[in-house]
Amino acid sequence: MRYLITGGAGFVGSHLADVLVARGDEVLVLDDLSTGNVENIADALASGRAEFVEGSVCDMDQVDECMEWADACFHLASAVGVKLIVQRSVDSLSRSVRGAQVVTEGAHRLGCRLLFASTSEIYGKNGSSALTEQSDRILGPPSIARWSYSTAKAFGEAIALGYHRELEADTVVARLFNTVGPRQTGSYGMVLPRFVGQAIADEDLTVYGDGSQSRCFSHVYDTTRALVMLMDEEGARGTAFNIGKSTEITILELAETVIERTESSSGIQMVPYEEAYGEGFEELGRRRPDTTAIEQMTGWRSTRGIEEAIDDVAAFERTRAASDVLPTSNGTVVKFDEGSVADPLVDA
Ligand code: UDP
Repeated sequence: MRYLITGGAGFVGSHLADVLVARGDEVLVLDDLSTGNVENIADALASGRAEFVEGSVCDMDQVDECMEWADACFHLASAVGVKLIVQRSVDSLSRSVRGAQVVTEGAHRLGCRLLFASTSEIYGKNGSSALTEQSDRILGPPSIARWSYSTAKAFGEAIALGYHRELEADTVVARLFNTVGPRQTGSYGMVLPRFVGQAIADEDLTVYGDGSQSRCFSHVYDTTRALVMLMDEEGARGTAFNIGKSTEITILELAETVIERTESSSGIQMVPYEEAYGEGFEELGRRRPDTTAIEQMTGWRSTRGIEEAIDDVAAFERTRAASDVLPTSNGTVVKFDEGSVADPLVDA
């Protein structure tokens, strides 16, 4: 099969490219490199079964060209990280909405199966013990960037599933819950690469709030396996599925576990939310997925724990620090600066 991966030079997309190439498929990566990095797909490209095109999902002609080649498309291109979304909300929202429309329409017109990658941010601050795909979305006002992002992704889901319902397009939606693993960057706020980077550098780990908020972290190897299984599953068409792990950990416990497993001498520094994200930020207490639907549909199960993810991220960060090829991911390097932001209204 021939797969187009939008955002394929990013964290999740690059692992997906590796999985597909390893099973003998051909892969085309479309990425604007705003947050992704070609280094991430070095192995996939070296296999001879992957190609890279630098471009935007907002560029209809370019998307069409890629879709003409592909049998199926994983649409992963999206702004990443709550911090980035809060700081650059207009750009993130514009690209998310416009990209979803261009990709979904192109996939349908050119007969490409489509998996739209959504997010657990969809559920907003609904802290129910286990969120099913039918759980309510509980959002604050749109003036708070976090909730606008949730709405932009919900628009993408609605378009993808609407095309299936009304036009019989071949679409499926995957909602990713806190995916972690090697190659994830902490530059946009993501907690695990930040903590591991800080621990390796023997700096204090910055726990936001009082650290009692909890998350469920899914190893990227489990997540990408789930994405492929969903894409392969005919019966999944027209439906949204949670992908994540149900084991919950508080952020303070996560910080302690990272320090322990990396044998770091770091301490823990508590940082108020306003200091971390600016005024008016709203945090979530907890977010835990119910993954019964994907398990029943595909037989997928999560197999890796947070300890394995921490070890894998630490090994990756140590190698990266030693090779000095890429910026460290402890959040001190911000690649997405003013100058590198493409204008969503111009780059189409
Ligand atoms: N967080 C933290 N320190 C950091 C980065 C993040 O305590 O240096 C917290 C953040 O406030 C949130 C949790 O870790 O409660 C997960 O943050 P992330 O951005 O990784 O994911 P999301 O908030 O989207 O679940």
